[in-house]
Amino acid sequence: VIKINGLYKSFGELDVLKGVDLTVHRGENIAVLGKSGSGKSVLIKTLVGLLKPDKGEIMVLGKQVNKLHRKELDELRLRIGFSFQNSALYDSMNVYQNLAFPLTMNVKNLSKKEVNNAVEEALDAVGLKDKIKELPADLSGGQRKRIGIARTLILNPEIMLYDEPTAGLDPITSTEINDLIVEVQQRYKTSSVIITHDLTCAKNTCDRIAMLVEGEFLKVGKFEEVLNLDNKQVKEFFNYNF
Ligand code: ATP
Ligand code: MG
Repeated sequence: VIKINGLYKSFGELDVLKGVDLTVHRGENIAVLGKSGSGKSVLIKTLVGLLKPDKGEIMVLGKQVNKLHRKELDELRLRIGFSFQNSALYDSMNVYQNLAFPLTMNVKNLSKKEVNNAVEEALDAVGLKDKIKELPADLSGGQRKRIGIARTLILNPEIMLYDEPTAGLDPITSTEINDLIVEVQQRYKTSSVIITHDLTCAKNTCDRIAMLVEGEFLKVGKFEEVLNLDNKQVKEFFNYNF
């Protein structure tokens, strides 16, 4: 569903991505690891056309992202769910309204009942049907994260992009979010790219790990394969984060 070939991206003098290759297969979860500032967020932004690469090809769901017109790009983005680090919920809207909003914005002529059903289905997927009338301020951090994920699920995405899904959560809540990521993969048949510093998350939710070192993926493979790489930066990364 995703194929990146020879991706380069610089900002002035700063070369961030220097020949990134990556293939994500249908139904697969891939973790992107790498130290702060290594270009993980830049990579995910080029995937959805928020940043233009200097060089290289990016195919997402069969489309060449950097060759699309505005309208085609919008259509493609509707098939991709983002889970932002800060959940980005609308504070003045309750849970129901937060979920219904992207749906009614993007899908015309839905009946009230169709919207209600979609909201309930998405809330059921994240296990928070009882919070439908709450305001975001009255939810815990983990619950807000779940509602953020539910809001992206409401459009039935084929690809999920998670930027640091467990950042700032306690270990138990992190485990719940990790379980949810796997449940979403199974229930919605999504493929996911998960940016994370959380090695437990990478190990338990992902089929493969992509390790970004000095602008390239040093290795894309199973967790243990990457863990055991004989490379100074990889060793440093794993020692620090375990
Ligand atoms: P973190 O783990 O801290 O989130 P990251 O791997 O996501 O780090 P990026 O946000 O991808 O890091 O940034 C990589 C580098 O590119 C950083 O040095 C950043 O300052 C730079 N950068 C990112 N976006 C821009 C931009 N729009 N203009 C200039 N420089 C940028
Ligand atoms: Mg980042």
